[in-house]
Amino acid sequence: MKDYLVKAIDKTKNLRLITVDAKDLVSEAQKRHDTWSASSAVLGRTLIGGLLLSAALLKYKDELTVRLLGNGPVGATIVTAKADLTIKGYIQNPHIALPPKKDGHIDVAKAVGKGWLEVTKDQGLKEPYTGQVPIVSGEIAEDFTYYLAKSEQIPSAVGLSVFVEPNNEIGAAGGFILQALPGATDEQLAEVEKRIKALPNLSTLFLDGMTPENLAERILGTDCKILAKEDVSFACDCSKEKYSQILATLKPAQLKEMIEKDHGAELVCRFCKEKYHFTEDELKDVLKKAN
Ligand SMILES: [Zn+2]
Repeated sequence: MKDYLVKAIDKTKNLRLITVDAKDLVSEAQKRHDTWSASSAVLGRTLIGGLLLSAALLKYKDELTVRLLGNGPVGATIVTAKADLTIKGYIQNPHIALPPKKDGHIDVAKAVGKGWLEVTKDQGLKEPYTGQVPIVSGEIAEDFTYYLAKSEQIPSAVGLSVFVEPNNEIGAAGGFILQALPGATDEQLAEVEKRIKALPNLSTLFLDGMTPENLAERILGTDCKILAKEDVSFACDCSKEKYSQILATLKPAQLKEMIEKDHGAELVCRFCKEKYHFTEDELKDVLKKAN
């Protein structure tokens, strides 16, 4: 089954919800970066959060970058999502696995540590806008909720979940973001909060075959309306052309060294691990163009 998200609204039109099944895209990231359990959970949750944020906030050709900058063992996690709901990302230390918490879950907060969550929105304006909040939990969903409240003035609830199998494959991945619109009453908020608290573990639900539509009904009620259904995927916009432009910005001495000493160059994309090889002749062309 292909990953997708749905946008839904409750019958009073005061609660907006986006739910997503992201198993394939988190699996793609896991394979490309060869992440171990704790790194998979951190990168996966950040990818799902970034995707939900872009679905909630972006338009047209906008993009946003989420930087989770904690002092825990996984290091920094960076993801970039576009308004077309493609996303790419990487984690500084992919090979982190930690002893499970008492409840058996991956200790995501420990893997992340303390630090900052930064979100940069590039909306085609001169200056991209960056909002920054301290990491308040490290479990990541709560951190996105805090960011939305503090930086975007959007009261929300966020749920993010990644289930890692013992062989490091991704068993399930998905999440939701609920936004309360200004017309929402206290009773409505209390009711929806009760429904979210009563939900079983999200991973368990996804492992049992729950769809984004099912999750929307469980949170908003069966009388909610599904407004849109959209595909989501892991996709990187790197290319050999892009890397030859990056090479062209190097000093001629550096390029000459690559040609004369290394007889070629291999560049690896940080976001997707794609390798780009440049032969001696290709590097000579780059050097000619750079001069
Ligand atoms: Zn790439």
